[in-house]
Amino acid sequence: MSRIAYVNGRYLSFRDAKVHVEDRGYQFGDGVYEVCEVRGGRLINARRHLARLDRSLGELRIRAPMSTKALGVVLREVVARNRIGYGVVYLQVTRGVARRDHAFPAPEVKPSLVVTARALNRARNEALAANGIAVISMPDNRWGRVDIKTIGLLPNVLARQAAIEQGARDAWFVDRDGAVTEGASANAWIVTPAGKVVTRPADRAILRGITRTVLFEAVKAQGLAIEERAFTLEEAYGAREAFVTAATQIVLPVVRIDGRLIGNGKPGPVATALRRAFHDFAEAG
Ligand code: PLP
Repeated sequence: MSRIAYVNGRYLSFRDAKVHVEDRGYQFGDGVYEVCEVRGGRLINARRHLARLDRSLGELRIRAPMSTKALGVVLREVVARNRIGYGVVYLQVTRGVARRDHAFPAPEVKPSLVVTARALNRARNEALAANGIAVISMPDNRWGRVDIKTIGLLPNVLARQAAIEQGARDAWFVDRDGAVTEGASANAWIVTPAGKVVTRPADRAILRGITRTVLFEAVKAQGLAIEERAFTLEEAYGAREAFVTAATQIVLPVVRIDGRLIGNGKPGPVATALRRAFHDFAEAG
């Protein structure tokens, strides 16, 4: 079956799914995106993802391409047309197509909207979670507004590639104070030797992950203590457990950071239990 994408009002086969060369997303990375998990053919936490999209658009003063309700319809339609049971739906909004000039187009142009969906291999994801992943650390060299989910992801791309070239799966960014900010495409968490679950506050130095937000409920329901605070790389090396959260991976145990084993080098009970519990707290629609 050929894949179908939504592009500016039309559902097109991938072959015909194209955007203009002067789209500002292509020219400047002037756009925002969302990725939402699909499970059992249903969108997971779509309401929260669309609310964050609204915020990202507002921060960059990009007009919403359509109402939140209409966006939800398009997302579901793309999932249905691609017959996704388990996978992800991707949505991107850019400031639109205009003659290349850094300043915003005047008069304003219509924002561009692209939606795609892709099946994921569930067995492969479960195997990844069962084994845990290795991460490397690197200085956080991103801009000061990574709380906005922009498509400008070059530092994240380079970090991920560096991780792979060093035999790891992902990278954790570290700020000037030696504190971990987040992963290249996920939020970072540790479990301290005392059993406290720690993740960085959602200020401008990290993306406020939807998985992160929803996982707080799961953590509380398990009777675990949460500390929303910065933690250093050194503290992470000595943690009992570490893990990352993102819509595509939910909770993924981290068993090695910079070559050092975390805990006993196997996925820990907290991360494993949270991964199992997550969807009890998520919205499916
Ligand atoms: N941090 C970054 C930099 C990300 O790119 C992502 C997801 O893509 C996340 C955190 C996790 O966000 P969410 O849980 O909403 O997928």
